[in-house]
Amino acid sequence: MPGETTCVKCDQPIKGRIIAALGKYWHPEHFICQSCNLPITGDKFNQKDGLPYCEEDYAKLYLKKCGACGNPIKEKVIMALGKEWHEEHFVCTICGKKLAGMNFFEKDGAPYCQNDYNNKFAPKCNNCRKPIIDIAILALGEKWHQDCFKCSKCDKPIMDPTFEVVDEKPICATCSGI
Ligand SMILES: [Zn+2]
Ligand SMILES: [Zn+2]
Ligand SMILES: [Zn+2]
Ligand SMILES: [Zn+2]
Ligand SMILES: [Zn+2]
Ligand SMILES: [Zn+2]
Repeated sequence: MPGETTCVKCDQPIKGRIIAALGKYWHPEHFICQSCNLPITGDKFNQKDGLPYCEEDYAKLYLKKCGACGNPIKEKVIMALGKEWHEEHFVCTICGKKLAGMNFFEKDGAPYCQNDYNNKFAPKCNNCRKPIIDIAILALGEKWHQDCFKCSKCDKPIMDPTFEVVDEKPICATCSGI
């Protein structure tokens, strides 16, 4: 009937209050969330394919979930390690420092800051016990910083591939006179 307003949901004419939303007209009782079927009140709702959803269900159904807390991400999404994260939840697994936009390291799908990654996963030097980031010297069944693998007599780093071992301590070629 011309001039008559029909509800897009039930196709019946609307008498009384009309909801105009998403470019269509609705009975107030038919303007409902497509997921929980509760009437949408106020103007806070989302739409998908022209149908209304309450904010909560829309977030549950269509927003990316955070890799840390599992909740929908309504604000900025951080993409990292093949997952999406809340900016405030993409943090170092150990110290909790925010890693968005920073250098970070990954182990078993978890993010780490550089310090904690090195402390936890880099090999430790047998002399100073600190993590070895660059070149590790493999000698006497242990790992060493280049500067930490020293002659036990002259205390200089042993660069030569030839050295002697006395009492399980290395002695450089110069000191041992090989
Ligand atoms: Zn209706
Ligand atoms: Zn709902
Ligand atoms: Zn989160
Ligand atoms: Zn950290
Ligand atoms: Zn060292
Ligand atoms: Zn020496």
